[in-house]
Amino acid sequence: MPDDDLITCSCLCGAVRFQITRPPKLNSCNCSACRRYGALWGYSPPTNARFLQGEDHTVPYLRGEKSLAFHHCATCGCVTHWQGQADDNRAFNLRLADDPRAIDGIRIRQFDGADNWTFLD
Ligand SMILES: [Zn+2]
Repeated sequence: MPDDDLITCSCLCGAVRFQITRPPKLNSCNCSACRRYGALWGYSPPTNARFLQGEDHTVPYLRGEKSLAFHHCATCGCVTHWQGQADDNRAFNLRLADDPRAIDGIRIRQFDGADNWTFLD
């Protein structure tokens, strides 16, 4: 894949870095966790993503039914990704893009995770 389809992301302190192919959409979710984290989620799959460094430097936070874990950097606290606990589903926080313009033009979908579990747009 061409390099301009790759978005490199890092936490504030730089301990955690990952790379993700430009996703077709980003989810902005209004559930009690996501709205507080302020994350914009890019999903993998279908998008390819890999850690460049620091995956073992993240701390998981599980709550409620514990179906997924939100991970944050152990040093600076940035929320980096979430990981399904019973499957391979995961999503990465594209708010961590190194280039603030890197996510320009990607459709942001409003997901009603708080209530109906459907898209609002
Ligand atoms: Zn950090």
